Formats: sequence, structure tokens, C-alpha cells
Amino acid sequence: MHNASIVINKSNFIQNLQVISGFINCNQTGGQKIKFCLPVKANAYGHGLIKMAQIAEEHVDYLAVACLNEGIILRQNGIKKPILVFGAFSKEQIYDLIIHNLDITISSNMKAKLVLDLCQKLKLNCKVHVKVDTGMNRVGIRPEHASALIDFIYNSGYMELTGVYSHLASSDKPNDAFTHEQIKSFGKIVTWVKQLKPDTICHLANSGGVYYYPDSYLDMVRPGISSYGYHPGDFPVNSILNRIQPCFSLKSKVVYFKVVAKNSGISYNQIYITGTQTRIVTIPLGYGDGYPRILSNCGEVLISGHKYTVSGAICMDMFMVDIGPNGIAYIDDEVVLIGKQGSNEITLESVAMKCQTIVYEILCRFNVRLPRIYI
Ligand SMILES: *Cc1c(COP(=O)(O)O)cnc(C)c1O
Repeated sequence: MHNASIVINKSNFIQNLQVISGFINCNQTGGQKIKFCLPVKANAYGHGLIKMAQIAEEHVDYLAVACLNEGIILRQNGIKKPILVFGAFSKEQIYDLIIHNLDITISSNMKAKLVLDLCQKLKLNCKVHVKVDTGMNRVGIRPEHASALIDFIYNSGYMELTGVYSHLASSDKPNDAFTHEQIKSFGKIVTWVKQLKPDTICHLANSGGVYYYPDSYLDMVRPGISSYGYHPGDFPVNSILNRIQPCFSLKSKVVYFKVVAKNSGISYNQIYITGTQTRIVTIPLGYGDGYPRILSNCGEVLISGHKYTVSGAICMDMFMVDIGPNGIAYIDDEVVLIGKQGSNEITLESVAMKCQTIVYEILCRFNVRLPRIYI
């Protein structure tokens, strides 16, 4: 078995998808069911792209990736559901986007013409979502120019107007004035698009939208972080969304044990000095796996039901923990860095806080050296 791995709890993940589907549709009486688009970009937020897409496929309507490569990997691994590529593409990528049947995001007239040129040359159709910028100031056509671009695509004969979407910049807090403005601005475009082509999928909500802004749901939602089990903001909700739970744990095991004298430096540059003769264990995982080095002397681990603090600098492939003069740990004992051990837990949120970042970034850091195990 592995010395260190990411363990993914499949049933927690599936339950999250079911909870969110139930929540967004709970006030839908008749009419169309609101579609669920699962973002699996960045290796499915570190959970493993292929496997998470395979597990999710029967529970969602759409998958979304950031770039062409991620989309190709999904198609090569048998994913059949529609896949939307969020990111902007370059000219050289258009051919592959089309032949892998990936839904293309178009945000400018110039890109629309490039795609049309190739479609005409190849005599192939493609599916397009127009991205409108309602306030992120990232990619997206400005609202005042959106209708011309949408018209152009609708009448192109080769590009199918599949969707129109925008992205919320600060929906992780409820009742945010900027978010209300974005919803209003996008709403005007939706009204217009629905007259042109009623079955166009209009979508706007990320996890924050799903939690706090029901008027952002439209035809489809795109919750990422909440699908993986984390609340998008610090604002509690009073609904079935409270049943969402993480499916990600980071685990390792004790590989070495030694007794060290008082006043000994542990790891590089002796930033930790033992206060007494004590027991030191070594954990075979480090910043080379994506475990943040900033957790030196402050990260926490669970070993046989106790919480201990990382001792000294985290190395590329290992770090040490002082378990105290009477601490008990044996070779091969389980070490939990993120997740639960018995009734104790180290939350991803606490790790992110110590690293002065958001949970998203911690999840995305873990690299391929750590195997993902799906239980
Ligand atoms: C990543 C992303 C999402 C998901 O955001 P969460 O905050 O994880 O829910 C939705 N839409 C777009 C365009 C994205 O890039």
C-alpha cells in the first residue's frame, strides 16, 4: 500500500450531488428541471479528473473544464455527457475542440469568426456558449455588445447557440449588492436570448449563487466547491445544503520513530528545538506532494487519536512530528493530515486558514505523486 495518499469517499460525493440537485429543484413546480453542470477543472479540484467525472456522469447533466486538454482527457476516457470548456481558446485549439465534441466558450466576435471559418472549411458543426462579462472583468463580451455576437452565432449555420452564460464575482456572501447587479444585468440578456432561441441554456450560478441567490439559477447551475463538500462562504444556511460534506482526506503513515535528546534541532535549519528528551516520528509526505511548506511548525496531524503539531521545517518528501516523551506511535500507524480519525478531525478550512488562502487552492496543490484512492 501507499505511504501517503488522498482518499476520496465516493458516497459522500454522490450525496453532495443529490443534495444540490434536490435543493435547486425543490421549488420547481412543473416546467423544466434545472440542469446541473459539475466543474471538474483543475483535476476535479484535486480529487482526480477522470474518476470524479466517471462517478458523477450519471448524476449530472453537464461537465465543465477549464481548458482543451482536460476535455480531451475526459473524451478519451469514455465520458459521453456534454462538456463545456470555460476557458478562452487559441486558434490552434479550435480543431480539437470541434472534433472532440466539446462545447466552446466564445467571448468575442474575432473568436467567433475563427471558429466559423474552420467549421465551414471542415463542413462540421459545433456547440457554442457565449460568455458575457457582467462584472468579473475577466473573459466575456460586454453586455452592450452581447446581442450582436449572439445573433452572429445563431445565424452562422454552423455554430449552434447552445448556451449563454456569465460568472458571479462575489456570490460567496448573501445579499451582496454587486451580485444583485450582475444577476439583473444578465437577466436582460436572458430575456432577449429566450425570444431568439427559447431552448438556449442560460446559466450563471456558481456555488455561492446556488447557496444564496435563487434568482441566479436560470436553466443550469455550475456549483464546484460545494459539490466537493465545502460551503462557499462563512454564512450558514438553514436547508438541506447542510448535509453537504467533504469527500477528500489526506492520509499517510508513520515510517520512522526515534528518541531524541533535549535541545536537539529537528529538520532543516533547526527551527524546532526539542524542550526535553522526546519521541520524534517521521511522516513520508512533503511540499513535493503539495503539502504546503508554510505549515512548518504549525500544521497539525492526527496519530492514534491525538492531535500533534508539525515539528520543524517540512521537507520535500517528509516531515517530523514531536509526539512528546510519552507519546505512543508505531511504524505504519495511520496519520491523518486532512480529514477525520475517530472523533477527531482536521478540517480543510483550518489548513487553508493557516496557509492564509482559500480551500480551493489547498485542494488544487496536491500533485500526481499522491495516489487518489476511491472508497
Ligand atoms: C470554477 C467555476 C465555477 C465553479 O465555482 P465554485 O465557486 O467552485 O462553485 C463556475 N463557473 C465558472 C465559469 C468557473 O470557472
